Amino acid sequence: MPHSARIYDYWLGGKDNFAVDRAVGDAMIKAIPGMRYMAAENRKFVHRVARDLVATEQIHQFLDVGTGIPTRPNLHEIAQRTEPGARVVYVDNDPIVLVHARALMISTDQGRSEYISADLRAPESILNDKVLRDTLDLGRPVGLTLIAILMLIADEDDPWSKVDALRDAMPSGSLLAITHPTADFAPDEVNEAVAAATSAGMTLVARPEADIRRFFGDWELLEPGLVPVSNWRPDEPVDNPQAAYYWAGVARKP
Ligand code: SAH
Repeated sequence: MPHSARIYDYWLGGKDNFAVDRAVGDAMIKAIPGMRYMAAENRKFVHRVARDLVATEQIHQFLDVGTGIPTRPNLHEIAQRTEPGARVVYVDNDPIVLVHARALMISTDQGRSEYISADLRAPESILNDKVLRDTLDLGRPVGLTLIAILMLIADEDDPWSKVDALRDAMPSGSLLAITHPTADFAPDEVNEAVAAATSAGMTLVARPEADIRRFFGDWELLEPGLVPVSNWRPDEPVDNPQAAYYWAGVARKP
């Protein structure tokens, strides 16, 4: 079966993917010629958000759900460049990511980086995990990152209630960062790519802006709001921000 973590790895130029993954990945590139650019822009957002949340928002601990196959720099490496004591708990439900988890756990001596094999569709299994409880202090603000994962959960599985459960467990001042693919900017291309993934047996949902906004609940979006991913605090101005078909935003718990 093709798998999202490996298809994404293929787009990013990684080696941890099989022929079935490349076949779906190529079918999606046929639909969306800018797919590799999109994946790279999403990854650049991870870099900016990790840096900004530590440096500007004083977030020193992260819960990253839907980590993916390690691709350097990983989130904890970026966070620890600014705050060597930063702690990150990674969560993924895919066995292939678990195989690579040791690479995710090479941390600074002052900080920590841990991995939990768990499913976002069972948020209590994440929240009750001993590794999470031992690593993160849920009395202090957490950076909760759900980067390019929510599109892999069908409406029937109610991803909104799962994110609600995670948000509820976070203390005031915590930040939630989300990226999510959308058909809002290029409906034909995105619908064709979704059809290619679906016909290969995958669950993939591009969502409109309003559905993505709901994931933040009553948390307050930080500047610049929910924007095309390339436009979230870019390092340099971007010519065509709508060329990467993701919405992205970061919100703070009141
Ligand atoms: N966040 C990374 C990787 C995105 S790929 C980045 O943006 O660079 C999506 C990842 O989410 C994959 O590794 C996949 O295995 C994981 N994933 C998908 N559904 C999941 C679920 N229900 N629970 C936990 N992880 C999941």
